[in-house]
Amino acid sequence: AIVVQGVHKAFGNLHVLRGINLEVEPGTVTAILGPSGSGKSTLLRLINQLEERTAGDIYVGGELTGYKRLEGANGPVLQRLDEKAIAQQRSKIGMVFQRFNLFPHMTALANVMEAPVHVARVPKARAQEEAVKQLDRVGLGDRLDYYPSQLSGGQQQRVAIARALAMHPQIMLFDEPTSALDPELVGEVLGVMKQVAAQGMTMVVVTHEMGFAREVANQIVFMDEGLVVEQGGPEIIDHPHSPRFQAFLQTVL
Ligand code: ATP
Ligand code: MG
Repeated sequence: AIVVQGVHKAFGNLHVLRGINLEVEPGTVTAILGPSGSGKSTLLRLINQLEERTAGDIYVGGELTGYKRLEGANGPVLQRLDEKAIAQQRSKIGMVFQRFNLFPHMTALANVMEAPVHVARVPKARAQEEAVKQLDRVGLGDRLDYYPSQLSGGQQQRVAIARALAMHPQIMLFDEPTSALDPELVGEVLGVMKQVAAQGMTMVVVTHEMGFAREVANQIVFMDEGLVVEQGGPEIIDHPHSPRFQAFLQTVL
């Protein structure tokens, strides 16, 4: 599970997240919607500890991220975890970005094997077996030896998903995974995400794909100006309450 409690993030004077509360139950899919600049990517980056929060707590799998709570003389104090402990926490989370971020000089197979071999120290033969399995899972079992430049955007994004899955994360975060794709390639990536969700993965997906959100997400979260303005089941897409969510949906539907 993911629990976000009273999280703030400021970049200098720019107060980007202004008190976010959010819970993601294990094995569920949360879709985060919201206009550009509302803080969606920043929230994902905080959950994955790519940024440090300014205030508030984030728990992943029951564990406070980034800090250890100690009993001080005047009550509890937070102590920053060391790099190794943070890396350990981060290894529970897989992330897929808008841009595919594959290593261009490596084949699909080598891209998927890279982190297991060099970060998780999995023996090469086993990492390769696992990578083949993950590439099969995303429908690319016949593209193992292709370089990113020889793959379509949709195929590259599926390799990126396989690469994240190869580390066996407990949680997958997706930041607009289809918004850089040509329209005809969006469906194959959403299809793979849907399949990963059906296999019980805990997922948080920033997306403008309302069909996917409606069909696959258990929870919809609408953010605006650094706050969660509305949240609920997928039905809120068709019955939004707040004027800002209504206005947003007008622009994307
Ligand atoms: P989009 O839909 O365009 O991706 P978003 O909801 O993901 O938008 P964020 O990327 O989280 O929005 O950005 C929220 C605000 O924080 C924006 O005003 C952005 O310029 C600012 N911001 C994000 N990262 C940084 C940074 N590293 N330094 C300074 N400002 C930042
Ligand atoms: Mg973003």
